[in-house]
Amino acid sequence: MDKQKDDRKDEEEYRELDDETLFVVSQSFKALSDPTRIRILYLLFNKELSVNEIADTLHLRQSTVSHQLRFLKNLRLVKYRRAGTTLFYSHDDEHVMDVLKQTINHALHH
Ligand SMILES: [Zn+2]
Repeated sequence: MDKQKDDRKDEEEYRELDDETLFVVSQSFKALSDPTRIRILYLLFNKELSVNEIADTLHLRQSTVSHQLRFLKNLRLVKYRRAGTTLFYSHDDEHVMDVLKQTINHALHH
């Protein structure tokens, strides 16, 4: 028993996740837990698009797209660039896009 414990001494010391980290992680998964938000983020993988273009491509109402983009913007998962009166959206976090890509690959190998 003690021998086993000794063998594992070199492992990195466990540190509990703090509340803020837990909050951000759970919010990130919440962002990825909605099919419409998944479709929007997937569309923004390597494109910068206006609300209209997103709505047209995904056959969604503009108000639905705006609502979801606001949600994603609050979590800093998307950003926008203003050109005249048009806002062009793109993704703003490589980590979460990697998680999305991995999870899509996971879904595809089933
Ligand atoms: Zn898998």
